Amino acid sequence: MGVDIRVVGGGLAGSESALTLARLGLSVELWEMRPSHQTDIHETDRFGELVCSNSLGSNALRDARGLLKAELRLLGSAIVRRADVCRLPAGKAFAVDKGQFSALVTQSIQSNPLISIRREEYRRLDSSVPTILATGPLTSPDFLRELRECLGCENLFFYDAVAPSIWTHSVDRNSSFLSSRGGDAADYLNCSLTREEYYAFVHALQSARRHLPETPDEQKYFEGCLPVEEIARRGDDALRFGPMRPVGLRERPENCFAVIQLRKENREGTVLGLVGFQTSLAIAEQQRVLGMIPALRNAEYVRYGLIHRNTFLRGPSVLSQDLELQAFPRVWAAGQLCGVDGYIESTAMGLVAALNAAALLRSFPRPVFSVKTMTGLLVDYVTRDREDFQPTNANYGLLPLEPGPKQKAVDREAFAVVALQHMQKVADEVGAWTTQKTNP
Ligand SMILES: Cc1cc2nc3c(=O)[nH]c(=O)nc-3n(C[C@H](O)[C@H](O)[C@H](O)COP(=O)(O)OP(=O)(O)OC[C@H]3O[C@@H](n4cnc5c(N)ncnc54)[C@H](O)[C@@H]3O)c2cc1C
Repeated sequence: MGVDIRVVGGGLAGSESALTLARLGLSVELWEMRPSHQTDIHETDRFGELVCSNSLGSNALRDARGLLKAELRLLGSAIVRRADVCRLPAGKAFAVDKGQFSALVTQSIQSNPLISIRREEYRRLDSSVPTILATGPLTSPDFLRELRECLGCENLFFYDAVAPSIWTHSVDRNSSFLSSRGGDAADYLNCSLTREEYYAFVHALQSARRHLPETPDEQKYFEGCLPVEEIARRGDDALRFGPMRPVGLRERPENCFAVIQLRKENREGTVLGLVGFQTSLAIAEQQRVLGMIPALRNAEYVRYGLIHRNTFLRGPSVLSQDLELQAFPRVWAAGQLCGVDGYIESTAMGLVAALNAAALLRSFPRPVFSVKTMTGLLVDYVTRDREDFQPTNANYGLLPLEPGPKQKAVDREAFAVVALQHMQKVADEVGAWTTQKTNP
């Protein structure tokens, strides 16, 4: 029996798409190549696996990712709802228990009668079936080749790095202290460095051996997520004004000049991630250089940092406003593949693609995502013609500039109020679909 639609990739975007489409009554065939074809980064065969940090960004409405999550909650996002259940204390960050989260997403998909799962690599674009492509930054090489052939895109990737995780028991508590930046909570373990220790560490980082992409012209990084050694190469003080800044911390020792923050990665607190410490250093160098931080002298690693390829389509050249491929009607791109970066941004694009697909397949009016919402700004970014396209995360810099020489600072609170009003309207329209007679 045929299905209404195919979703390819069971990551954040694909899981969001599949669960949303099923909620709207469409039957879905969800393709996922793991575990028979693993990526270099995923560790399980679960749906919705978070591949690195356990943080989905801020939850505050004035922050772009906080607003994006609030908008997604209004639209009934399956992923955000499950993340809410798995939340861990982490100061202002919205962190989750990664294992619990992916287990919950997997269970929801497996138990959904409208979703059939196909554990297989998708290699050829079959546009005879409506399809959402959500194969993500680690799209399999065969399918990446196929996309290049079908869409004619060059340069569909950049390089990105992952932060290491360590066992909590291996951190020296005498050289670290509990505190969150700018808050009363004590959700982060801060590894303190004196002035001398900091500069010795930075100099070691600047000259440490790295794993680099094969050719130098491929060494392009995403500016929003630079490896720490790349930040260190930009200046001796760059790290202490970046991820190692010691500001806003209570209980800070007097001689604390910089910190590395560690955040719980599971509910039990047995594993800690190095916050903002993505690195492409060779493994032995990670042990040596991070071992110069007093609290990490005897650190035992759950996972080392690493560098990986990050695939995306040049959205403005190939996508229509509803994330549909211009050259292949009824095929949509979602998630990181369509040119956003970040867990929550990928989820948002999974939801948008699913709503657009459902509207087309069921002849409902297409939902309009205004640029007065964070979701709409992301859609606009990945679909509007621009030179020098690079993936983006949610941020207020996506707002179109007002004409005139003087640019006013964005009133974030006011923007959020209007955004949520707009999104409520979309949510009401989508809510009405389920009560209307469907038109298959
Ligand atoms: C190493 C790494 C670290 C990252 N760290 C962070 C972070 O800390 N915070 C953050 O906000 N964002 C991070 N990102 C960026 C990004 O937000 C996440 O990768 C996010 O998971 C993207 O969601 P997605 O659904 O688009 O892709 P994914 O979650 O990767 O899902 C894609 C799925 O498609 C499957 N697949 C691929 N090719 C095929 C095929 N041909 N056939 C069938 N299945 C296929 C894959 O196995 C995978 O399950 C990171 C990205 C990478 C690669």
